[in-house]
Amino acid sequence: MLVSVQQQESMDASVTIGAILRSAACVIDRVDAHWLLQSVLSVDIVFLMTHAELPLSLEQIACFQQLLARRIAGEPVAYLMGERGFYDLVFEVTPDVLIPRPETELLVETTLSKIPCGRRCNILDLGTGSGAIAITIARHRPDVNVTAVDFSPQALAVARRNAVKHSAENVVFVEADWFSGFINEKFDVIVANPPYIAEGDSHLDDLCFEPAIALVAQNNGLDCIRKIVTQAPDYLEHSGWLMFEHGHDQADACRRLLDKTGFIHIFTRPDLAGIDRVTGGQYGSIPA
Ligand code: GLN
Repeated sequence: MLVSVQQQESMDASVTIGAILRSAACVIDRVDAHWLLQSVLSVDIVFLMTHAELPLSLEQIACFQQLLARRIAGEPVAYLMGERGFYDLVFEVTPDVLIPRPETELLVETTLSKIPCGRRCNILDLGTGSGAIAITIARHRPDVNVTAVDFSPQALAVARRNAVKHSAENVVFVEADWFSGFINEKFDVIVANPPYIAEGDSHLDDLCFEPAIALVAQNNGLDCIRKIVTQAPDYLEHSGWLMFEHGHDQADACRRLLDKTGFIHIFTRPDLAGIDRVTGGQYGSIPA
């Protein structure tokens, strides 16, 4: 790529948007190439499509080639661009946080459907990472208070910037290990996208640029989910809901755990790929 662009440049004295995209599409995904060039030029896809003949400056070419080399080495596009769209917002991401996934939008949608109306509810997001879940909920429900917890100060710094970026004034951030930051607080809904991949799982090879602390859990990937489910009753209002994301083969184990802990109205929802992805339940007795 480097050589071909330079050769072309010496021949034409200019490298155009169209030429650099065609050349990049030989070595990386075509769509990724578009994203990277959009990021370098600070333009949208429509601009790229309608300016194929526009020549690039040497700085722009060099910058694109650096990103291209990193992409070829496997770095996710979201980290190279420094952002990722989630639900209806765009979030800053750095290698300190998990890249928000489309399947996690199901967790947000499910949470939004369970938040009662008519009073100021308290929502807790455990392991907030970039803050995507907490901030999306806060933006959709300005009438609730969202508390977002993470163990990593670096992740919280990203999440705080995202809250400012989206003017989410109804979110507070707490640095803590799951529930350890709370004593007497009670929440109406607790939500989490905890680490749930088992140590040694082959999927981890594709996720090596993302923080292992946000991905991997002991005991077949169920350790954090178990901690959250068993401790949640102490932090839930009567009839409060707990719901969380889990791995493709963990729904049964999660449902059993919720049942054993005293949750009722236990549900599991599949993501758009048809994979069981979100499980939850309500804590408290069924009204007579
Ligand atoms: N959904 C992510 C993946 O499999 C994992 C996220 C997580 O562990 N919470 O790529």
